Amino acid sequence: MSGAFLPYGRQTIEDDDIAAVAQALRGDYLTTGPAVEAFETAFAEKVGARHAVAVSNGTATLHLAMMALGIGEGDVCVAPSITFLATANCARYVGAEVVFADVDPDSGLMTPDTLAKALNGARDKRIRAVLPVHLRGDVCDLPAMKAMASASDAVLVEDAPHALGSTGTFGGVAHPVGDGAYSSFASFSFHPVKTLATGEGGMLTTNDADLAAKARLLRSHGMVRPAGGDPWWYEMPELGFNYRIPDVLCALGLSQLNKLDRFVARRRQLTALYAKLLAERTPRVRLAASPAHSDPALHLLTVLIDFEAEGLSRRTVVESLKAQGIGTQVHYIPVHRQPYYVKRQGLADLPGADAWYARCLTLPLYPTMTDGDVARVVDGLAGILG
Ligand SMILES: *Cc1c(COP(=O)(O)O)cnc(C)c1O
Repeated sequence: MSGAFLPYGRQTIEDDDIAAVAQALRGDYLTTGPAVEAFETAFAEKVGARHAVAVSNGTATLHLAMMALGIGEGDVCVAPSITFLATANCARYVGAEVVFADVDPDSGLMTPDTLAKALNGARDKRIRAVLPVHLRGDVCDLPAMKAMASASDAVLVEDAPHALGSTGTFGGVAHPVGDGAYSSFASFSFHPVKTLATGEGGMLTTNDADLAAKARLLRSHGMVRPAGGDPWWYEMPELGFNYRIPDVLCALGLSQLNKLDRFVARRRQLTALYAKLLAERTPRVRLAASPAHSDPALHLLTVLIDFEAEGLSRRTVVESLKAQGIGTQVHYIPVHRQPYYVKRQGLADLPGADAWYARCLTLPLYPTMTDGDVARVVDGLAGILG
């Protein structure tokens, strides 16, 4: 091993982050307190949305989005097969069914074409939401998808945990992911591998005040305290959950948010270095394709390798890299192939998702990596592939 283990992703926690948490711990609130609202306000401003609702984790944000939109039994949501489980599962949490869309085999993204096919296959059903996933940090074609969803009386809910800091340029206008120009909600996660870390944590952004209020209500049991009521009085007009995020974690999130531009700039530098070194040293390994409208702040550095043509299994490559102290991951196993979904709805035919899965491998990418670390990863890969 030449140097420390490089995981595929990790958090960047600095002394001032620790100081912010310590200060919150000395305050009066461990959970719902002033840092929650401060984090929400700063986050909304950063991504250009009118409202932000901080939540206990990314999966809970998606569940709240489904509930706030009133999606339930008899409804259908469309999600790409190449994503984390939670994108599809949130529809099941509210009793809706999932129709899986295929993806472009070179970007891993749902596209207007693959969405059209999915919508057509579900045309007899009550389609309520389409969930574009900005896989790796590359932005989906939101205006085309919004138009297609609207034609089916459905809305977009962006599953955007990979794309904090990414921009999509549509009609000559640059849209930061999360600005809600095309969607009812955008969802973010602050799991340690994501661009900002709070341990567990998530955020919903929206430009719709009613949807924001609904998500806020359902985040804390659906409880309200009517004005003029007795001091102890609360009511529960709707069934909600405890999806609150601790004040301490919002203090960390707020401190991390101050560093977002720096994190994004470093991710972009490292991505450019990967592109250069891969082209020079192992040109058969390509970075995943990026659509022209997308200016990504990549969360995942995913490459495509034709393992069959290389005469090597992915497992051999993964294990050889690991032996050199280089961590990798596969993003993702197609969700439509998960036993739960096969049992419910049979096995859909999604050749783009299968072709993506057969070739994808995620290499280390996080802001504290050095240029030398990138060279070490590329040389390691070049050595294995020959
Ligand atoms: C991380 C992630 C989630 C879930 O976020 P958690 O905070 O781990 O619950 C959902 N969707 C995608 C695409 C993710 O990457």
